[in-house]
Amino acid sequence: MKTNSLTGLIDNFLDFFLPRYCLFCNLKLNTIEQYLCNQCTLQLIKCDNNHSEIKYKQYFESPNIINELNALYLFSKETPIQSLIHCLKYQSNYRIGNYLGKLIASENSDYFRKEIIDFIVPIPLHRVKFTERGYNQSDYIAIGISDLTNIPIEKNIVKRVKNTESQTRLNHTERKSNVKDAFRFCGKKSLEGKNILLVDDIITTGSTIIECGRVLKENGAEKIIAFSAALA
Ligand SMILES: [Zn+2]
Repeated sequence: MKTNSLTGLIDNFLDFFLPRYCLFCNLKLNTIEQYLCNQCTLQLIKCDNNHSEIKYKQYFESPNIINELNALYLFSKETPIQSLIHCLKYQSNYRIGNYLGKLIASENSDYFRKEIIDFIVPIPLHRVKFTERGYNQSDYIAIGISDLTNIPIEKNIVKRVKNTESQTRLNHTERKSNVKDAFRFCGKKSLEGKNILLVDDIITTGSTIIECGRVLKENGAEKIIAFSAALA
C-alpha cells in the first residue's frame, strides 16, 4: 500500500514537471497511459489470424522460407500505429520497441507457452544506418518479447551487409531486388533443427524478412516464425 501511494506520488510529480503527450493526437497523457491516449489506443486494430493468413498466401507461401507469419497490429497510414512506428524508428524513442515487444509477448502468452522457440533474431540494421540512428528498433522489440518469455536473443548470427535504400516507395518487385543478398550468415555453428523467431517493426510485402530468413534456412534453421509489431 505504502509503495503504491509512493509510486503514485512520484508519477504525479513527474506528470506535473515532465508532462507526456499522445504521439498521435497530442493530448496530455494521464499517469497510466503510455505513448497514446485511451481514445487513440482504441483505434489500434489487432492483427487477427485471418489477416495474417491472407498476407501469408499473397507474399510468403511461394518463397516457402517463413513458416508462420504473426503481427500485433494492422498498419495503416495517418493512424496511431503509424505514429508509434514512426517515433520508434525516427525519433529516438526506442523504448516504444520494448513496450511493443512486451505487448506481443503478453497478448500471445498462450502461443509462446506452447511454441518451442530456440531464440529470437531481430532483423539487423546495416552498420551505417545503425550509426545514424544509434540503435536498432527491432532489438528493442526482441528485448521486450524476451523479457516476458525468457526466450534468448541471438544478435550475432546474421549481419546486414548491404545498406539498402528505404523500401517505402518501392513496389513488390523493386523491394525484392533491393534486399537481395542484403544479409550474411556469421554464426559459428549450423542452425540445424533450430526454431527461430524473426522479429521486425513492420512487415509490408515481407521482402526483408524473407531475405533474412533465407540466410537462416540456408544455414540449417528448421522453422522460422516471423513476428512484427505491425503488418501493412
Ligand atoms: Zn491520442
